[in-house]
Amino acid sequence: MHTKLSLYKGDITTLQVDAIVNAANSSLLGGGGVDGAIHRAAGKQLLEECRTLGGCAVGEAKITRGYNLPAKFVIHTVGPVWRGGMFNEAERLASCYKNSLLLAEQHHLLTVAFPAISSGAYGYPLRQAAEIASATVKEFLIHHDIFQEIIFVCFSEEAAAIYKQIFDEN
Ligand code: ADP
Repeated sequence: MHTKLSLYKGDITTLQVDAIVNAANSSLLGGGGVDGAIHRAAGKQLLEECRTLGGCAVGEAKITRGYNLPAKFVIHTVGPVWRGGMFNEAERLASCYKNSLLLAEQHHLLTVAFPAISSGAYGYPLRQAAEIASATVKEFLIHHDIFQEIIFVCFSEEAAAIYKQIFDEN
């Protein structure tokens, strides 16, 4: 594989990459968790651009500039709320990763960092969410092995341990 896959433990807003992915809500007008951190670090121009986008459906993705972030762009995607696993949560979460990578490809972005989408306020069990993240990105790269690096950002020790285990198993 040409694309390097890596894990980073820490705050996604500090990464100097072409794009960081935001686990947004469907309004795209800001929220808590990683979304709040990204809006705080990017500054209010990010919210102004987001207001022009008309929201975003679950599983879809939209792109903005990064403003005061070290990242050039932010790809906003909306993960599914976990409702027990019988409501297409897995497919919808996989779509977040696929559609974010498609947007990155269309914009010729080479380095992309993902948080663990849906695994915070949206309640998706972390291990299952991380397995989908890893499997979906690897599947995408089979046909689009065009990036320099895809980084999975783990915000906690627990997330880092789970992602590392999944990486080591595969
Ligand atoms: P969602 O609503 O999609 O669940 P959250 O922001 O609540 O989104 O959580 C998604 C994941 O992002 C969680 O694993 C959370 O620990 C993580 N997270 C929160 N803040 C940051 C940050 N600054 N950098 C990277 N990951 C973060």
